[in-house]
Amino acid sequence: MKILNGKPISPGYAQGQAVILGIGDKKIASDRIEAGAIDDEIARFHAALESSRRELEQLQARVASELGESSAEIFSAHLLFLDDLQFIEQIENLVRTEHNNLEFAIQQATDDIARRLNEADDPYLRERSADMIDLQRRLLRQLSQAEKISLSRLSSDSILVTREVLPSDLLEFEPENLAGIITEIGGETGHAAILARALGVPAVSGITQATQLITPEAILLVNGQTGEVILEPEPSQLATSSTAKTHYDATTKEATDAESRECITLDGVGVRLLANVGRPFEVKQVLEHSLDGVGLFRTEYLFLGKQAAPSIEEQYDCFCHIARSLGGKPLVVRTADFGGDKWPRFLEPRFEANPNLGVRGLRFSLLASQDLFRAQMLAAILASREHDVRIMFPMVIGHTDLQEAISVVKEIACSEGIREIPPIGALIETPSAVFAIEEILQLSDFISIGTNDLTQFVLAVDRNALALIDDYTVLHPSVLRAVSRVIDAAVAAGKPVTVCGEAAADAGVAGLLVGLGVRRLSMSPANAARVRLALTASNLTTLEALAHAALRSESATAVSRLVTESLCNTLPQLGSGAITV
Ligand code: PEP
Ligand code: MG
Repeated sequence: MKILNGKPISPGYAQGQAVILGIGDKKIASDRIEAGAIDDEIARFHAALESSRRELEQLQARVASELGESSAEIFSAHLLFLDDLQFIEQIENLVRTEHNNLEFAIQQATDDIARRLNEADDPYLRERSADMIDLQRRLLRQLSQAEKISLSRLSSDSILVTREVLPSDLLEFEPENLAGIITEIGGETGHAAILARALGVPAVSGITQATQLITPEAILLVNGQTGEVILEPEPSQLATSSTAKTHYDATTKEATDAESRECITLDGVGVRLLANVGRPFEVKQVLEHSLDGVGLFRTEYLFLGKQAAPSIEEQYDCFCHIARSLGGKPLVVRTADFGGDKWPRFLEPRFEANPNLGVRGLRFSLLASQDLFRAQMLAAILASREHDVRIMFPMVIGHTDLQEAISVVKEIACSEGIREIPPIGALIETPSAVFAIEEILQLSDFISIGTNDLTQFVLAVDRNALALIDDYTVLHPSVLRAVSRVIDAAVAAGKPVTVCGEAAADAGVAGLLVGLGVRRLSMSPANAARVRLALTASNLTTLEALAHAALRSESATAVSRLVTESLCNTLPQLGSGAITV
């Protein structure tokens, strides 16, 4: 038995078997092979090529049917490499002439090709470098006994252990087929957390060297409330975890049963619950969880895995498809927030020392890629003529950038002969936007508070930094004071304000936000049931008192204690879980 401590990034409890994805940072050791073993090693290579090809073809077909042809293009480059005779020869030579073991030869050759591609003048070739690394991972996975399982065919008690969840990985997961996720890096608002919450599975991040400490098929207990992972647990620990899981599942069921109820506090205050979605098929969860619409559609996921930007028609079809499935409920299209850790492969890579503070969000749209921005705007404007589609800009800094973006929308609408533009909102996620909130409100029809980025910028803590994982918390009084200032300004201006950062998805923190004055919360749909249960069992007066005390607190720890106590008093069955944001 061994206890590993990490950071909880998605709530719940899981028991299951480890499935290790990737090799983390580990370099494969060179292990010289005897001449007599060469043919076997080459045969293993061809078997791995063949099974990788089958896996890629299946994946390509599935993604094409679920997400469209262009999303499936990412796999074409991988398939082309598999048929490239030079690539195959390079690896065979390392085995035949250097007597390298196959895994080492694959790592050497693919690292070398990726490095050369990355140095190429042609941007198209440079982009293929990431494909080569992806393929390396797939081939090595095929060769490792433990990783023969395809990601899309995991069993329901699989606990995925990986260094980090990459945007392209998101395409491979079948919801339902995963009990839990453990990652070495990635914060509460990173891709792993967003994926885990979208799937409703517990997840823990920040387990250093998890991919090396945990062996394939090891029995694991994952506590998504505390961040504790137990490797090869004792029978008594298994029993305790089972009881906690049963209890958690029962309260989730209770929460799910209450989903048809309107979200109204005991003293009659209505709160609208909306969904954050990133992939179009997630939209079905909006109706499943009786939500009031999509408060945040992270459109960059439409671009990330692709070889070319989706056309205006494709984006228009996608927005209309989502809006139609919402049956008249609103869809807030957030324009692509490229930069930071989200960079489409069809754009020339950009090297910035601080990508989160670089050419990102609206700055990217206005400075670096007006074409992409204009195409997306036109698609959204056209969709808004038929459906309740609204536009929101990420990483707004203040009056100037917001006004420029709005002028682009007006100009596009005018050139198409469209008189009415859709409602326009600003995502408040930079400290500058907090201090410019009055001017921003004058220009906006609505605003939404992005607590994920706002927290990282207010506290100067990288939201994905493993070493700072405990310092990154929305419950820091400075973050709450910033949030409160924005809510008060919006209420005074009579403009709708939503919170769409992950903070809204935590039952305790959601209550605190309502106490601060917000009446619209947008979150991963899987978390909505617990938020609804907590809010419908609360009184606004109690939540306001909680908010008042939180704003006057001196530390995040003190606020966390207040929130947990408040939730325990309201709903003891939910309150025992740690706050995950
Ligand atoms: C946020 O920053 O809170 C937000 C909603 O945007 P994202 O998590 O996509 O950066
Ligand atoms: Mg953000």
